Amino acid sequence: MTPAPLIVADALSKSYGQSGQHVIRALDGVSLSVLTGERVAVVGKSGSGKSTLLNLLAGLDRPTAGSLKIDGRQLDRFTRNEMARYRCQTVGIIFQSFQLLPQRTALQNVELPLMLSGVPSRRRRLQALEWLDRVGLASRAAHLPYALSGGEQQRVAIARALVHHPRLLLADEPTGNLDSVTADQIQSLLLDLCSDGSVTFVLVTHDDHLASRCCNRTVAMGDGKLMEGGHDAIL
Ligand code: ADP
Ligand code: MG
Repeated sequence: MTPAPLIVADALSKSYGQSGQHVIRALDGVSLSVLTGERVAVVGKSGSGKSTLLNLLAGLDRPTAGSLKIDGRQLDRFTRNEMARYRCQTVGIIFQSFQLLPQRTALQNVELPLMLSGVPSRRRRLQALEWLDRVGLASRAAHLPYALSGGEQQRVAIARALVHHPRLLLADEPTGNLDSVTADQIQSLLLDLCSDGSVTFVLVTHDDHLASRCCNRTVAMGDGKLMEGGHDAIL
């Protein structure tokens, strides 16, 4: 049986600036389907609209035009509350700059999505510890982010992104701030955690090696559009 699409974007656009003034079309009519369990890399030059697309998928921003369905639900019509619930239950996100809360320990950072979903404290702590263990950082649970290396911080961020079993994992240049050896370790970890098909993965990257290693499909963006060859039929 063919898996159902988890993401269906149809002519999705995002512009910045008011009409009459100079308008930036950060995303310009992108149509893209991603099947459940698929791992898709989005590549393209800086400024091509990759992060804009990812932020729309994450529910961090709203499109100016077009439609975006996630699991059959029309994300662009969600209320604020529905969007907040979507972000904390359905999505896990990993950023280039880790974005851990600086005054919270590694464990507290990983617990955060569970806290937002109202998981009781004991269960929350156990689940977060289990995930710190999975990313190889059980012994660093009580450390604050400043006391962790870049690679360790990204591991904490990966645990935080996956602890609540999101259906959709999004990553924006996750190895962009890391040296090549550490980047390689983070790649292996992502591959290890995402290859069983239980999570759909959209990865924004400049790194062709990361794209081909971690993903089974690559789409390319240029000037806010999917480029020739990267065109993607609506299912
Ligand atoms: P990428 O991630 O591929 O580097 P972005 O999605 O960040 O590209 O940006 C696409 C375009 O949209 C760029 O021209 C960028 O300057 C512009 N842009 C992104 N965010 C904003 C914003 N908040 N306000 C105005 N322009 C923006
Ligand atoms: Mg970007």
